[in-house]
Amino acid sequence: MKGKLVVVSGPSGVGKGTIVKELVRRRADVIESVSCTTRAPREGEVDGREYFFLTKEEFSRRIKEGEFLEYDDHFENYYGTPASFVKKQLESKSVILEIDVKGGLAVKKKMPESVLVMIAPPSLEELRRRLVSRGTETEEQIEKRLSRLEFELKQANEYDFVIVNDELERAIAELSAIVDCEVESK
Ligand code: 5GP
Repeated sequence: MKGKLVVVSGPSGVGKGTIVKELVRRRADVIESVSCTTRAPREGEVDGREYFFLTKEEFSRRIKEGEFLEYDDHFENYYGTPASFVKKQLESKSVILEIDVKGGLAVKKKMPESVLVMIAPPSLEELRRRLVSRGTETEEQIEKRLSRLEFELKQANEYDFVIVNDELERAIAELSAIVDCEVESK
């Protein structure tokens, strides 16, 4: 394995997607993994780019064969990280998985050499401000997400690194440095 497997987690609205997308855009040796899902493609989504779109039968078959580093169900559909895709990419590149803490810990169990990174907001107030200005959630949904924050950040105990996203450029530079650094497995 030449590349490093890096899991990036963090609360909704913290800006993890922006950090990961920017790093992948800037570095040819880093890619984002493509997950499998049983949900239907949305308009503009391409099989193999946003997701690998599978039938429920095919997904179940792959679960039985141990094809997923981790999987979970959201809104009655399955989502999972395909082990073969990730391992193939790791032969030449570092791979970033943007998944939740539960998924991240499952990946670490299967691949202890992976590195877990938590993206944290500078403060609760700042996260609230970002969620409000994003405008994609109702006030009630925002409060629900914020109340999960403490729980989510507590789980970060088991994570290898925490990046505070107070300044985008610094956060990208930190993630980039983590991809390059040598770390001992816990
Ligand atoms: P969407 O259908 O909006 O693309 O994604 C729904 C949810 O599935 C999101 O919360 C997303 O983070 C989660 N998800 C996407 N891919 C994976 C995966 O590979 N594993 C897990 N555990 N969750 C995923």
